[in-house]
Amino acid sequence: MKRIIVFANQKGGVGKTTCAINLAASYAEINKNTLIIDLDPQGNATTGLGIDKRSLSSSTYELLVTKEFVEPIDTDIENLKIICSHPDLAGAEIELVDDTDRNLKLRKKLENYSNFDVIIIDTPPSLGILTINGLAAARDLIITMQAEFYALEGLSMIINTYERIKSRLNPELNLLGIIVNMFMQRLVVSNEVLNDLRLHFKNKVFKTIIPRSVRVVESQSFGKPMITFDPRSVVSNAFRELLQEIEKNV
Ligand code: ADP
Ligand code: MG
Repeated sequence: MKRIIVFANQKGGVGKTTCAINLAASYAEINKNTLIIDLDPQGNATTGLGIDKRSLSSSTYELLVTKEFVEPIDTDIENLKIICSHPDLAGAEIELVDDTDRNLKLRKKLENYSNFDVIIIDTPPSLGILTINGLAAARDLIITMQAEFYALEGLSMIINTYERIKSRLNPELNLLGIIVNMFMQRLVVSNEVLNDLRLHFKNKVFKTIIPRSVRVVESQSFGKPMITFDPRSVVSNAFRELLQEIEKNV
């Protein structure tokens, strides 16, 4: 297995899911055998890939709580499979509370998915047990954020969590980078925040920036990532560029 990437930020609505499904689709497009794991009980990555949650026999809930292995299901995209979310996942936190291994459930079970070239994990907007399982299982963390005034404050919280996980649960975890999403070039504040971010975090901020586009919202309602919904769009090309940047950095 080559890559296990987790997208995280305790702030909701910054684009974790959008980045997760589009980066996954970009890897699938270059023939990497790719798996996406939806760890958010809201299941936006699942519906964002056109899958009806009600039709599923097993999900990340079983993977964390009851089963050793859950068969990934096909998406409409070649080379891209998914282990879907289920609303029951919201209860996993309580069910696992007495389990001393509760933070390492996913990490242990991922050993059964070594046939994939790339595994991408999407996490909920909180720093609870589900996100911790994602961080403990991954090798690389990508923090998704928006270039807005209060974003920098939120960033210190996820970076603290990253450092804690790295020292206590997963020493191999690497902060691959910070991706700025929904960027609006013509807003002065966006450019200021981006400059501050680069001053502070230097080369940890990806050169690639994902612009804001209404097409992203449309793609969601069609249950497709931008890569297949509008393959020639600026946003799709930005995700391909992000993939190149990731692979070049290694
Ligand atoms: P998160 O997973 O962090 O909660 P989402 O990926 O669900 O964030 O994105 C939140 C909302 O913003 C969604 O409605 C999504 O369609 C929209 N969105 C995400 N990225 C972009 C973008 N680059 N341009 C426009 N809208 C976007
Ligand atoms: Mg999400």
